[in-house]
Amino acid sequence: MTEIKAPRGVRDILPDESWKWAYVLNHAHAVAGDFGYAEVHLPIFEHTELFSRGIGETTDVVEKEMYTFTDRGDRSLTLRPEATASMVRSYIEHDMAEAGQPVKLWCAGPMFRYERPQKGRYRQFWQLDFEALGSSNPMVDVEIIELSLELFRRLGLTNLEVMVNSVGCPKCRPVYKGRLMAYFGAHLDTLCESCVSRYSRNPLRILDCKNPQCRAVTEDAPGIYDSLCEDCRTHFTSVTDGMTRLGATFHVDKRLVRGLDYYTKTAYEVLSGQLGAQNAVCGGGRYDNLSEAVGGPALPSVGFATGLDRIILVMEEQGCSFGKRPAPLVYMIAQTPAVRTEAQILTASLRRSGLAVEMDYLGRSVKAQFKAASTLGARFAAIIGESEMEKGTVSLKDLESGEQVEVLRHDLAGKIRKLCESN
Ligand SMILES: [Zn+2]
Ligand SMILES: [Zn+2]
Repeated sequence: MTEIKAPRGVRDILPDESWKWAYVLNHAHAVAGDFGYAEVHLPIFEHTELFSRGIGETTDVVEKEMYTFTDRGDRSLTLRPEATASMVRSYIEHDMAEAGQPVKLWCAGPMFRYERPQKGRYRQFWQLDFEALGSSNPMVDVEIIELSLELFRRLGLTNLEVMVNSVGCPKCRPVYKGRLMAYFGAHLDTLCESCVSRYSRNPLRILDCKNPQCRAVTEDAPGIYDSLCEDCRTHFTSVTDGMTRLGATFHVDKRLVRGLDYYTKTAYEVLSGQLGAQNAVCGGGRYDNLSEAVGGPALPSVGFATGLDRIILVMEEQGCSFGKRPAPLVYMIAQTPAVRTEAQILTASLRRSGLAVEMDYLGRSVKAQFKAASTLGARFAAIIGESEMEKGTVSLKDLESGEQVEVLRHDLAGKIRKLCESN
C-alpha cells in the first residue's frame, strides 16, 4: 500500500515548532487580557451562507477558495475561511447586545482556504482574531490598532509599518467609485485582465492589484479622502489623531481598500519589511454593515486578524526570541537494571512536587543516559545506583557546573529548588 501523506497545503506543527506557537499564543492571551478581550471558541464549520453573505459573493475567497461540502443531512457547510463572520453570528445568536458595548472578543484557531501553497501560506492556517462589536466610537478603532501593535511589540517584532485608510460608507463610496471609474476609464488598455473586469464590477479592487503595470496606474489614482462624507471624514480624522496621541507612527495608504459594501471607514494593515510581497502581518478595520448583510441588526464593529504562521516566520527572520524551549529540569539516571523501578518512583515523586523530570525507558547505559540528559537540555542529572539505594540517597549532578552532591531522597526536590534559586 502507498504511504498516506498529509494533503497538499496542510502541515503538521511538530515539537520543533509547536513550542514557538505556544509562546506566541501565551502572549496573545496576555495582551487580550490586558485590553479586556475575552476568548471564545467558535465552530470550525458554519452554514455556507454565513460566509457567502458575510464575506461577499464576488470575493476570491467565496468564489474560488472555500472548502464547501454537503453533509449527510444535505446541508451546505463550509470550513471557515476567516473568523469575523462567525463572531458576528455568535454575537447575534447569543443576544450580546444586552451586555455593555462594545463586546470585546478574540479567538485563535485554524482557518481554511483553497489557495496556492507558498512560503508562510497554507490551506489550513492559524489566525488570531480580535473583534470589538457594538460600538461606532473611533476610539475603539484606535484601541484595536494599538492592541495589534502591542502584541507585535511584546513579541519583539521591529521594522513594522502601519498603513491606514478609510473606505468610506455606502453613502459616500459611490461618489468615490464614480471618480475612480472616470480615472481608470482613461487607462483601461494598461490594466491587467482581472482589473478590466473589476472596472465595472468593483473599481475599488483595482487599487489593491499587485500587477506592476496596474500599480503604476493606481499610483496617481484619486484618493478617497476628498470624496468622504462628513461622518466618515470626522471618523477618519479621529482615528489618525488618536493614533498620533498614542505615539504610533503610521502612513495613510490611499490604495488600502476593501471592496465590499459592509466594510466601512477604517481599514488598516501592519506590514513587515521582511516578507517580500507577502508582507502584511495583520489586517483589519471596521465593518459596520456586515451584521445586516448576514441578516442581523445594525452592529458597528471593528477588528483585526493576524496569521500565526506569518508572525512566526517574521519573528524567525528578525531573530526574535521565543523564550526558552521547554526542557526537563532533571534527568533521572538508573545506574543498573536493578534500580530502574526505583528510578521511576523517584521520577514520579519529583514530578508530583512540580518539577520537570525525564527518565530512560530503553535500558541504556549510564553514558548514554547522560548523553540523553544533555541532548534534552536537562540542568541536573539525578543518579541512583545500588549504593544510593542502600543509603536512601540520590546523587545530584549539576550538569552546568559539573558539581555533584549526595542528598537524602526526601531532600532531593528541596535541594534542586535551592540550587535553581541560587543560580
Ligand atoms: Zn461616508
Ligand atoms: Zn490589475
